[in-house]
Amino acid sequence: MLMEKERQEIVYYGKQLLEKGLTTGSGGNLSIYNRDKGLMAISPTGIPYFEMKKEDVVIMDLEGKIIDGNRYPSSEHEMHAIVYRNRQELNAMVHTHSIFAATISALNQPLPAVDYLVAIGGGKDVKCAKYATYGSEALAINALEAMEGRNAVLLANHGMNACSTDLKKAMNVAEQLEFCSEIYVRAKSMGEKINIIDDEEMIRNVKKFVTYGVQK
Ligand code: 13P
Ligand code: ZN
Repeated sequence: MLMEKERQEIVYYGKQLLEKGLTTGSGGNLSIYNRDKGLMAISPTGIPYFEMKKEDVVIMDLEGKIIDGNRYPSSEHEMHAIVYRNRQELNAMVHTHSIFAATISALNQPLPAVDYLVAIGGGKDVKCAKYATYGSEALAINALEAMEGRNAVLLANHGMNACSTDLKKAMNVAEQLEFCSEIYVRAKSMGEKINIIDDEEMIRNVKKFVTYGVQK
């Protein structure tokens, strides 16, 4: 089976998306790009994560051609492919419909540095991409643009994308940024002035995350 390991990971982390409260129903999607093969494994469209089998995962090239699979791919396949075409350092992406990131995205605002963990997104904040119809090329372009110099982005009135070198790490980015989003929404609802970490300190945090968690 072509890209069996990647297919298994998509199935495993798809369930995690639900278990970690990062999406609901069959919302959201996830992919892995195998740079050696030049192929992307992506979740199928509309299949509930607990019903998804490795056979359902679709293998595509970055031009949108299906190379292997019995199912239709995620409607957001171009939003994943555009990242792999343009960002050589990123090989996995999780698209979530997580409640607090989506709440901030409904304001069309970025997630500011309310917590040092915002730096896991690669910048001093997480920008919000302009609204476009789900599954459209316009959404893919908007998301890529707003993710410049970062590895995560909010999608206006929709959700969040989180990327990394592998899917386990991309899931962690999504989880931590959803945590920060919840803090922001809660802090805002307290009505007092929120302390935002200054830019210089956030640059330090971003640098520290490059080697964070490296073990002997
Ligand atoms: P798919 O089921 O087609 O992946 O769509 C879900 C989604 O999140 C659309 O933005
Ligand atoms: Zn979506």
